[in-house]
Amino acid sequence: MLYSNNLFIFSSNKKFMFSQIEENFMRVALNEAKNCYSRGDLPVGAVLTINDNLEGVGGNSAKTNRDWTSHAEISLLSRVSWKMKGNPKGISKLYTTWEPCLMCTGASVLSRVDEIIYACPDPIGGMSKVDSSNLGYWNEKHWPVFKEGPFREESYNLLINYMKENEKHWGTFLKNFKR
Ligand SMILES: [Zn+2]
Repeated sequence: MLYSNNLFIFSSNKKFMFSQIEENFMRVALNEAKNCYSRGDLPVGAVLTINDNLEGVGGNSAKTNRDWTSHAEISLLSRVSWKMKGNPKGISKLYTTWEPCLMCTGASVLSRVDEIIYACPDPIGGMSKVDSSNLGYWNEKHWPVFKEGPFREESYNLLINYMKENEKHWGTFLKNFKR
């Protein structure tokens, strides 16, 4: 088993298992997503751990920064990626409340993230189903393991509420965004 303790919890759809440690870190990410929502940004939060130690927290700030690339994962990785490739490197996990996009997955590859745990799947723009063997040797070698984690419903509801309130930018996406 990959997990670092023996406590497992079934998520609502019974398909996925996660540990208490993973639930705790995802809760931190979810709280950051709520902070984003409060200030008017897309509610996505991210947490980075190395050997289950908290290294950083980030949130989406696209609206605040007027920059569509200000994703939670990018802002977080830009602060901690140098440390992650240092020695000795532990097992790094990126927790995010929404399945990462192409850009953030690329940044995870560059930062050598070992595992990405996401709360809410994104069937439209998420990267979890990409076959990395089609991306060339280097990408395949460093491609992180994707895993669905806790707080799927909570993250989804936050995102849906935000998109409904910001239909000008998110209306088209919302139509296609299903659980
Ligand atoms: Zn992204």
